[in-house]
Amino acid sequence: MFGDREKSAVYKVLPDFAQELEELLLAANHPELAAQVHELRILRRCSCEDDFCASFFTQFEPSKRPFPDARCVEVEPRGGMIILDVVSGRIAHVEVLYRDDVRRTLRAAFP
Ligand SMILES: [Zn+2]
Repeated sequence: MFGDREKSAVYKVLPDFAQELEELLLAANHPELAAQVHELRILRRCSCEDDFCASFFTQFEPSKRPFPDARCVEVEPRGGMIILDVVSGRIAHVEVLYRDDVRRTLRAAFP
């Protein structure tokens, strides 16, 4: 049985993507961010309707950009683009673009 926390865990909803993200962060020399991947939860997916967008929020819904104390961390996936918004050292938003595999699963899990 899964509780709500388990159901929305990135490694449950998107296991392949979670592993990929962890490996990319390690390769990019961000071990402190890689270590957060196993506990990341999807609060909601991005509500834009861009057909190339598979982004999701993992900390809170920021009201506007730029966030205070925020930085962007870009990694180099084999396909598409992945850019993390890191707020106060925590991954807050995962911008995923041009990744149909992630988008399909995300939209099915969060209609
Ligand atoms: Zn979007």
